[in-house]
Amino acid sequence: MADAINLFEPKFRVEETLEEIRICLEKGWTGAGFKTLEIEEAWRRYSQLEHAHFVNSATAGLHIAMRVLKENDGWLQGDEIISTPLTFVSTNHVILQEGLTPVFADVDEYLCLSPESVKGRITERTRAVMYVGFGGNPGRLGEVAELCRKRGLRLILDGAHMTGTRIEGRPAGWQADVSVFSFHAVKNLPTADSGMVCFREKALDTEARKWSWLGIDKDTYTRMASGSSYKWMYNVEHVGFKYNGNSIMAAIALVALRYVDQDNAYRRQVAGWYEALLSAQPDVHLVPTPPNCEPSRHLFQVMVPERNAVILALNQREIYPGVHYRINTGYPMYQNQFGTCPRAEAASESLISLPLHMNLTRGDVLRVASSLLEVLRSAAAN
Ligand SMILES: *Cc1c(COP(=O)(O)O)cnc(C)c1O
Repeated sequence: MADAINLFEPKFRVEETLEEIRICLEKGWTGAGFKTLEIEEAWRRYSQLEHAHFVNSATAGLHIAMRVLKENDGWLQGDEIISTPLTFVSTNHVILQEGLTPVFADVDEYLCLSPESVKGRITERTRAVMYVGFGGNPGRLGEVAELCRKRGLRLILDGAHMTGTRIEGRPAGWQADVSVFSFHAVKNLPTADSGMVCFREKALDTEARKWSWLGIDKDTYTRMASGSSYKWMYNVEHVGFKYNGNSIMAAIALVALRYVDQDNAYRRQVAGWYEALLSAQPDVHLVPTPPNCEPSRHLFQVMVPERNAVILALNQREIYPGVHYRINTGYPMYQNQFGTCPRAEAASESLISLPLHMNLTRGDVLRVASSLLEVLRSAAAN
């Protein structure tokens, strides 16, 4: 039996990462501050974004993004946020958690929000667009950003898949009011759980830091480092959350960030192999990449008929692809919008994410592609 080929396998530079963690342990500082400041600085340099706040997950970052914009702009219960139903539920849960209403727009050929569909769903109550760069693919983000600018809407970028994606030569994120990145274990910059929330406006970044630390106006590290004789003194401005990142996760992220461009280049190489083997095959539809971008390639997705049966047949060959995602309107809290996004719904029935990680060899890619084609051919013959 051949070895199993998994969808994702995080790759860690173990010795180098342990060295960074050791520094935290020896210093006796594992919480917020210290390494979290280093990763924020490193991320600002890498992303060319002016503000970066390290948090304990992208979900937390998205929630903070929602809360800070809602407070700042005075959004009311029931105000609408246009979003995609083809995403991880984090994207949309934070809208509901803030008492706002997600209004789904359909996706385009890139599986990202279609600017035309977004435009058609803007109402008096629309306040923002939540955009997901699906699999690292920016889709038509620039057009959506332009639409938001013209219509006075905020743009939130769920960039959970977009670490290292470049658009017109520039790292993704600058087009949005706030961009959020995930450093979850299976994302392309793996830690265990952490993320980055990057506001364009300094005042909002300052607010976000309070919201992620229970509403407290000064974090402990800053207080301890200050010359004040009242180091213990702080004020609490909001009923905030406990969403800050810690120095152990930051240490892991610092090392991963050194390698992420190199890793993404290999991901694009793997994607190129898949494309060469699978394009021009009758039953395999590839997701295109727009011009002028270099995607992170967090995912490599194809659309096939009889998807569920195909996955089972691949599993029998020890190949374990994934599905990103079940359409969110299939879940009870979003069900009332079922049927409003036919393209996203159809995609959700046929998408497969093929194995894509740093331990994958060219031989593995050949085996996955040839197995997929065999499975499809035998299904067609039946
Ligand atoms: C993984 C993911 C998130 C959440 O990231 P966490 O860091 O695990 O909270 C949000 N949106 C999308 C599209 C994701 O894939």
